[in-house]
Amino acid sequence: MVRPSSLSLAEKCELAPVLSAEFPETNANIERGHLVDGQVSRQLLGGAPATDPDALAVLAWLHEEKMYGVGHTSYVQEAIALVDPDTGETLTEGTGDIAHYDGRSMVTIVDLKKREQYAAGRLKDPDDNMQLHAYGLGWALRLGAKAYRLALLLFGDGKVEAIWSTVCFTETPDRLGAKSWVPYLDRIRKVKEGHHALVASGARPLPTAGDHCAQCYARAHCPSWMFPEPLPSAADSALVPLSKPGGITKDNAGDLLLYVMAVEEQAKRAREVLQSWARANGGAIAVGDRKWAPIVMNGRKSGPTVDELEELGLGHLVKQGKPYESWRIGKR
Ligand code: SF4
Repeated sequence: MVRPSSLSLAEKCELAPVLSAEFPETNANIERGHLVDGQVSRQLLGGAPATDPDALAVLAWLHEEKMYGVGHTSYVQEAIALVDPDTGETLTEGTGDIAHYDGRSMVTIVDLKKREQYAAGRLKDPDDNMQLHAYGLGWALRLGAKAYRLALLLFGDGKVEAIWSTVCFTETPDRLGAKSWVPYLDRIRKVKEGHHALVASGARPLPTAGDHCAQCYARAHCPSWMFPEPLPSAADSALVPLSKPGGITKDNAGDLLLYVMAVEEQAKRAREVLQSWARANGGAIAVGDRKWAPIVMNGRKSGPTVDELEELGLGHLVKQGKPYESWRIGKR
């Protein structure tokens, strides 16, 4: 069975859930998440009060959102199976952080994550996060709710920020902007069918690489991200002509250029594999007495696009930049 946490990647790559089961991920962000989850859960379940600043911020947010306190029904760290309402089969099963039910119609799923994981592009937004949809569907179907919504609650430095999904309803409602949950259920059914067929065939799936690999914790173990053969040693490197006066000629310049482009591509992939390895091994790579590690930057400010400004009749605010060179391969 594909676990909820692997559903999004399993839609794009059949190997991803296999590798994630073979190489379970642990890293500093995940361990920090467990600590905060643990303190929040303990207090929600009536145990010792939380002391960690991030756990306190999460609890204050739950209180403001009216999900914590007298008269509220929350399911904390409780396993939930998503059972197909048509066939009665279990499609997937897992344990989410918090599921809240308002007792009438709406289930809210809250997933706690360290802000750095989101900043690193490791998490999908709730609208397209199949793990959270699986929990939302599972709880809504189990409780007979009419709708669910999903919140990714990012914590760090004693603060929280929620990213919300659109509300998903049992049936397509006519309310503007509202969504049906059926397409999400169908997507999970499709993953389950594909995985069953694969298991039945006994074949090991091939990797399907793409932009989604940024969210795959198994990248450091994926054949698609390994170099097919060792890089050439410096002595026989095709780059040697670049280090000799007169080494570049009309005859070899084209080959050199193609080789440099291939090295750039390989170096980019190598850097990403090293980032994955660092995340799984303490979060940093030692470089002498310093370390190579991610830092969270503020998001860029954005405003209207040039087209939008022109449509608004504000074209006079648009400035044409100076011409600049862009090197490309095109027709001779
Ligand atoms: S890194 Fe990409 S290709 Fe490899 S298993 Fe993960 S998702 Fe698939």
